[in-house]
Amino acid sequence: MTAVQAQPRVALTDEAKAEFKALLGERFSTSGAVREHHGKDESYHTPFPPDGVAFATSTAEVSAIVKICAKHKLPIIPFGTGTSLEGGIAALHGGVCIDVSGMKEILRLSPEDLDVTVQAGVTRKQLNEYLRDTGLFFPIDPGADASLGGMASTRASGTNAVRYGTMRENVLGLTVVLPDGRVIKTGGRARKSAAGYDLTRLFVGSEGTLGIITEVTLRLYGIPEAVSAAVCPFKDIRGAVDTVIQTIQSGIPVARIELLDEVQMDAVNKYSKLDYAVAPTLFFEFHGTQRGVEEQAEMVAAIAAENGGTEFAWATRPEDRSKLWQARHDGYYAALALRPGAKGWPTDVCVPISRLADCILETKRDIAQSSLLAPLVGHVGDGNFHLVYVIDPDKPEEMAEAKRLNDRMVARALAMGGTCTGEHGIGYGKMEFLEQEAGEAFAVMGDLKRAFDPDNIMNPGKVVRV
Ligand SMILES: Cc1cc2nc3c(=O)[nH]c(=O)nc-3n(C[C@H](O)[C@H](O)[C@H](O)COP(=O)(O)OP(=O)(O)OC[C@H]3O[C@@H](n4cnc5c(N)ncnc54)[C@H](O)[C@@H]3O)c2cc1C
Repeated sequence: MTAVQAQPRVALTDEAKAEFKALLGERFSTSGAVREHHGKDESYHTPFPPDGVAFATSTAEVSAIVKICAKHKLPIIPFGTGTSLEGGIAALHGGVCIDVSGMKEILRLSPEDLDVTVQAGVTRKQLNEYLRDTGLFFPIDPGADASLGGMASTRASGTNAVRYGTMRENVLGLTVVLPDGRVIKTGGRARKSAAGYDLTRLFVGSEGTLGIITEVTLRLYGIPEAVSAAVCPFKDIRGAVDTVIQTIQSGIPVARIELLDEVQMDAVNKYSKLDYAVAPTLFFEFHGTQRGVEEQAEMVAAIAAENGGTEFAWATRPEDRSKLWQARHDGYYAALALRPGAKGWPTDVCVPISRLADCILETKRDIAQSSLLAPLVGHVGDGNFHLVYVIDPDKPEEMAEAKRLNDRMVARALAMGGTCTGEHGIGYGKMEFLEQEAGEAFAVMGDLKRAFDPDNIMNPGKVVRV
């Protein structure tokens, strides 16, 4: 979907405004600039500003804000850091954005249990900075420094997911404010539980449509004894993808295995001032004991050599690794910089690993036959890859071409047993694809939404149709 029509809006009355002001004072804003900022994510999607923005500092405050919204039937749009990519924070029906980015406290750390509880506005980098001297780390790393509440809400993942899983595997429990203002706790700190419905997993990935997450309990990991990273260019993309497939099928526990095609490598070189070969390339990272890391690296190097991998360039010093992964994380902005003034239409699909080569090669063939610039990157160890259509949204022919290619890529992924999004989520951008993917289950998701939110005030117009 490229743009949505303006939806019927629910007016923010003077009475409701006065209630928000009495509760929050200056932390309730209706200023144009604040509203604009809160209606716009990092993608090409049409922004829709909310009518007001409430800056919350605690679970109790979120609950009080939600109660005012519920009384006036005002739509509520939760906001973490606004880095999502499918229009999730757009206020399609107006209403009040609840910004939790000021909820930045680390509430509890248990190194002995490898878990931590944080307020929803803590970002992934803030958490790792806090953990730095404990010997522990939190591995999920979307390219942006997103909030942990936002990451739970979109079921985010990143370059480490092939080894450590996604937010689905790493959220142990949540505190959630429901659409009527009630506060519930889901899950807990036990590593497993057979106690009732798994509400934690229901809220993880629900994109603010069922409630607002105010606290998150997360799994942590010990920093590995040895880490090494490498970059390896390939003669062609098939060789790079076959290396990934064979590595995963051999059970080698790589921590990161990322693909960048030749267009993306060119962009990364220019943006991050590097001089890698302009060729399909894999970025690797290995974690473990010194000997374990060496063994993994040797096995992967042998697989790569058989598939046309030309040479491994190693980064063992922490500062070199940081530079390498920062360049990878900046890939989106590097792609945009290829065409100054253009916008990005980022999209991702995920397929079973055995179908990855077919899906990527057919997608690359489509792009080659089109007029669009569309670098490809991927967390390929999970079967997940991304395209960024670098477009001018004011040119209808470019938008139509991007839509055509995107529709074909998603249809291809679904036909291969995959999903319309491995990590970016649905927002309002991919609802039609979710409907295709989920079939009858799409209606059941709507039933669930109605049960939690009968007045449809929580992030309406996203994920499910009500
Ligand atoms: C350069 C770049 C690279 C990226 N790379 C990745 C990647 O590798 N992997 C990946 O998964 N994503 C990636 N993303 C997308 C984005 O960073 C993730 O979707 C992230 O999880 C969004 O977090 P946020 O705090 O910015 O959430 P927001 O954008 O603020 O919100 C996202 C959605 O969650 C809802 N929400 C936010 N906070 C809460 C809350 N506390 N309770 C309930 N609902 C809430 C919002 O209403 C919205 O629907 C990337 C984005 C950019 C710009």
